Amino acid sequence: MNKNITEFFFPRHCPICDRVLGRDEEICDDCKTIPRPVPPPHCKKCGKHVSEPGSDYCYDCLRTPRAFDRGFSLYEYVSIHDSISLFKNLGRPDYGEYYGKMMGRTFYGELTSLEADALIPIPLSEKRFRERGYNQSAILANEISQITKIPVYEDFLLRAHPTKVQKHLSRSERQNNMKKAFHIPQNDVKLKTVILVDDIYTTGSTVGAAAAALKGVGINRVYFITLATGRGY
Ligand SMILES: [Zn+2]
Ligand SMILES: [Zn+2]
Repeated sequence: MNKNITEFFFPRHCPICDRVLGRDEEICDDCKTIPRPVPPPHCKKCGKHVSEPGSDYCYDCLRTPRAFDRGFSLYEYVSIHDSISLFKNLGRPDYGEYYGKMMGRTFYGELTSLEADALIPIPLSEKRFRERGYNQSAILANEISQITKIPVYEDFLLRAHPTKVQKHLSRSERQNNMKKAFHIPQNDVKLKTVILVDDIYTTGSTVGAAAAALKGVGINRVYFITLATGRGY
């Protein structure tokens, strides 16, 4: 369909206030400054803000071995809490268009310099995918791919077991819950370097478990990018 016609029938909405946007508008001027980028300095491992003076790593990364090599995160979760909730749980996949683009544009240099073979979205369980009708991380990955030209491998990494909802669990329960959460049918394509894509980075248990599974099938380097970082919500 012609782009103008598509916009006429399905106008784009601001991901923050949901106002209908004009042509070529991606977010409204008033809302532009609401998504707050993670302030520097950033942890050299996970990309979170480091509050300890003089440290290269955040409190968690100094104490927790990480299966991933390095990660990047765009916004502070608190600044776009409601929008993310609509995006991932309440049927607004269209918000991911803006967010994925911003992830790709902001980290273009970092992502392309990794020479990655693939962007791999964190998968949902089949049950949750059926409930939602889309995987929000795959939407972000596809937008990032359009900008960086790194291909998306959507069915490479799968959920192994239905996992409990993470936010109701303690930290150690989360880690146990995640340990066997992923399954890789086969690494036939011989990927060597990959970038995981997820919506929110909290304790790192999800991307950590996915990275461990990917390294288990011979992938050498696993990076990640997330839309937002939070404090363990
Ligand atoms: Zn707005
Ligand atoms: Zn860190």
